[in-house]
Amino acid sequence: MRKVLTIGEVLVEIVATTKGNGFIEAQPLIGPFPSGAPAIFLDQLGKLGTPCAIISRVGDDDFGHVNLTRLRADGVDVSGVEIAPGESTGSAFVRYREDGSRSFVYNIRHSACGNLKPTDASEALIESCDHLHVMGTALSAPGLGEMVMDAARRMKARGGTISFDPNLRPEILNSPGLRERLEAVLAMTDLFMPSGDELFLFEPSRSETDAAEALLSRGIRTIVLKRGAGGASLFEDGLRIDATPLTVEELDPTGAGDSFGGAFLSFWLADAKPELALRYANAAGARAVTRIGPMEGTSTRAELDALLTLQKG
Ligand code: ATP
Ligand code: MG
Repeated sequence: MRKVLTIGEVLVEIVATTKGNGFIEAQPLIGPFPSGAPAIFLDQLGKLGTPCAIISRVGDDDFGHVNLTRLRADGVDVSGVEIAPGESTGSAFVRYREDGSRSFVYNIRHSACGNLKPTDASEALIESCDHLHVMGTALSAPGLGEMVMDAARRMKARGGTISFDPNLRPEILNSPGLRERLEAVLAMTDLFMPSGDELFLFEPSRSETDAAEALLSRGIRTIVLKRGAGGASLFEDGLRIDATPLTVEELDPTGAGDSFGGAFLSFWLADAKPELALRYANAAGARAVTRIGPMEGTSTRAELDALLTLQKG
């Protein structure tokens, strides 16, 4: 089985239990929950039995150990996670507003994963894995961005494949050099997984079909478009499939995209039929939003089968 690698942040998330505007007054919190988009993505892959590894950096503290323990338990190779004594593991505090939007307080750039550099262990993983998943967020940080670009070039040169989730938050869109890196990764991408308007990031077309066709003609094999509570769509050459959303109670949407993506990639790498990969990914995204905490809603195959059977009902 092909082994998946990703590079990026491992952090904890701490969630306010009340809704409102940010953290300007004392309030009840729940956490730490294991988090970080690349980590959630791999946790989902690991739960579905796909071999996978992460390159990251954490402090020698409880927040780091919460993550390592969870990832290991779910089958993720953490040999490429450097433990940095005296540094702190990254964190994100999140509070939902009444309208469903979120405000964050991040400690990522100045945390242990903000100082990620190649190590012997990370080099060994880049040489031994068969697929690289790239998060657009990783490309916004100069050092990390270069490391990801280097891994992507080497993966392609060795005949490996690349998936790419732009995952762009408005705060990072104007980071220096980001555009160029996004374009360079897209040119190497086999599986593109944008959400919403990110489909038009590189091809400002009038319709989704036009944008998808233009992207496919650049050499991308598969595009899956995430639509939040609206479900998802898949585009391949001459093929479009729409997945209607499953009906679930949304308690915490954070991590849905990564759970969806990890599940889709697991099936895609196993050469599953596109319909099947999309159906399971749609279920993984739906199940993810029913749990508080970004990594709490990743699913096993049995959990996805149970949800799909229930909804066929
Ligand atoms: P994030 O980056 O915050 O993790 P995203 O924008 O990348 O999220 P979404 O589109 O929010 O990803 O969610 C991914 C997929 O999960 C959707 O395409 C859909 O299949 C499923 N999903 C998300 N929210 C819901 C919901 N409320 N009900 C049913 N399915 C959902
Ligand atoms: Mg996303």
